[in-house]
Amino acid sequence: MGKPKILIIGAGYGGMMTTVRLTKELEADDADITLVNKHNYHYQTTWLHEAAAGTIHHDRTRMLIKNVINTNRVNFVQDSVRSIDKENKKVVLKNSEIDYDYLVIGLGFESNTFGIKGLDENAFAIRSVNTARKIREHIEYKFASYNNDPDAKDSDLTIVVGGAGLSGVEFLGELVNRIPKLCKEYDVDPSKVRIIDVEGTPLVLPPFERDLAEYAQKYLEGKGVEFRLSTFIKEAMPGGVKVQKQGSDQLEEIEAGTVVWTGGVKASHIPADSGFETNRGKIQVTDDLRAPDDDHVFAVGDVAIVFPAEGERPYPPSAQIAVQQAETVAKNLKHLIKEEPTEKFVYEPKGTVASLGEKEAIGVVFDKKLTGKTAAALKKVIDDRYLLMLGGIGLLLKKGKLNLL
Ligand code: FAD
Ligand code: NAD
Repeated sequence: MGKPKILIIGAGYGGMMTTVRLTKELEADDADITLVNKHNYHYQTTWLHEAAAGTIHHDRTRMLIKNVINTNRVNFVQDSVRSIDKENKKVVLKNSEIDYDYLVIGLGFESNTFGIKGLDENAFAIRSVNTARKIREHIEYKFASYNNDPDAKDSDLTIVVGGAGLSGVEFLGELVNRIPKLCKEYDVDPSKVRIIDVEGTPLVLPPFERDLAEYAQKYLEGKGVEFRLSTFIKEAMPGGVKVQKQGSDQLEEIEAGTVVWTGGVKASHIPADSGFETNRGKIQVTDDLRAPDDDHVFAVGDVAIVFPAEGERPYPPSAQIAVQQAETVAKNLKHLIKEEPTEKFVYEPKGTVASLGEKEAIGVVFDKKLTGKTAAALKKVIDDRYLLMLGGIGLLLKKGKLNLL
C-alpha cells in the first residue's frame, strides 16, 4: 500500500496552519500532503479592513504560499474547489480532481447578506484581498471624481457601513484615519464627508463588554462617525440604502457613494452543497474535529462549528479558534496514520481585541480589559505571534507589525 494521501483545501488560517504543522508532525515517508487554494497567496483576513480602507497596502496582508510552506514536503495546487465527492474520496476542482485518504476542509467564510434586496449587487463586502482592494479603489475614485465630475454630488462622499460588529467597527476605525488623508490629497472639504454606520441592535459591538463598546462608540463619534442604532438596512440601491428604524413602519433612504456590508458571515457553501451534515451551514465537528458523517474528513476554522457545552451558543468564528483547531487536526492526522487514539480539541480562548485604527483599540485579554495604545500594541503582538507560528522569525521580520527591524 502507498503512503496515505492528505488533502487540505483552503489556505486560510486553518488550512495553512494545518499544513505547516503537518510537515512538523510527520516524516516525509509518512504521507503525501497536498494543499489546494484558489490563489497562490495566503492572506491575513484579520487585516483586510485596513486594506479596504487603504491604511495599509493589500500586499502587506498577503504572502506567497510557496514562501511559507515547505514545498519539498507539500504539493501546492492553485485551483478552485467546486465540490467534494465524499463517496469516492475525491475533491473536484475547476481544472482537475484530486483523490484523498484524509481531507481537511478549511474553505473559510462568505459574506452573509441574509437575502437583503440589492446588497449582493450594490454593496461591497470585506472578504478577500480582491474585495478589499475594490473597496479602497472605489472610495478613492469617489474622492478623485468629486472635484472633476460635473455630476458629482456631496452624497458621493458618504460611506455607509452596514453592521457595527467587530468587522464594521474595525473598518470604521481605519476609515476615520484614512478620510483626512483622502481629503487632503483630493482637495475635498472634510465637512462634506459623512461616515454612517447602520446597526440593527441598539448597541455598537453587541457581544462586547458594555464599557469597552461605549469607549469605541465615543471614540468613533469623536472622529465624526454617525451611528444609526436600532436601525436595519432593508435594501441597497446603486446610490445608497433604505433603512428602517425599529418600531417604525417607514423606510428612510440614505444616499451614499459607497456601501460596505459588514453585517455577518457564513461558512463556505461547499461542504453543505457536497452533502455533509451541517448545522447553520457548518460542519458540527466531533470532539476530535472530524465530520460526524465521515471520519476521513476534518473541518477547521469558519466551516466548523464547536459548542462549548450542550445548550450553549457556539464559539464565534475567529482566526484564533481556526489556528488552535489546526494544531489539533495536524496531531490527529498523525495519530490516525500511526494507528494511535486521536485527541480531543479543547479551545482556550485568550480574549478578543478590536482595533480602532493603528493606535487605538479595545479588548479583553485573559479577562483583563484594555483600551487605547496598550490594547493597540497587544493587537499587533497577537498578529505577530501568528506570523511567528506560521513562518518563523523570517516571516515575522518581513510582515510583522511591531516593526522589529
Ligand atoms: P479563511 O481565512 O476565510 O480562508 C479560507 C481560504 O480558503 C482562503 O485562502 C480562500 O481563498 C480559500 N478558498 C475559499 N473558497 C475556496 C475554493 N472554493 N477553492 C479554493 N480555495 C478557496 N478573527 C480573529 O480571531 N481576530 C481578528 O482580529 C479578526 N479580525 C477580522 C477582521 C475582519 C475584517 C474579518 C472579515 C474577520 C476577522 N476575523 C478575526 C475572523 C477571521 O478572519 C476568520 O474567522 C478566519 O479568517 C477564518 O479562517 P479560515 O481558515 O476558516 O478561513
Ligand atoms: P457579526 O455577525 O459579528 O456582526 C454583524 C453585525 O451586523 C451585528 O452587530 C448585527 O446586529 C448587524 N446587522 C445584521 N444585519 C443587519 C442589518 N440588516 N442592518 C444593520 N445591521 C445589521 O459579523 P462580523 O463583525 O463580520 O464578524 C464575523 C466574525 O469574525 C465574528 O465571529 C467576529 O467575532 C469575528 N471577528 C473578530 C474580530 C476580532 O477579533 N478583532 C474582528 C472582526 C471579526
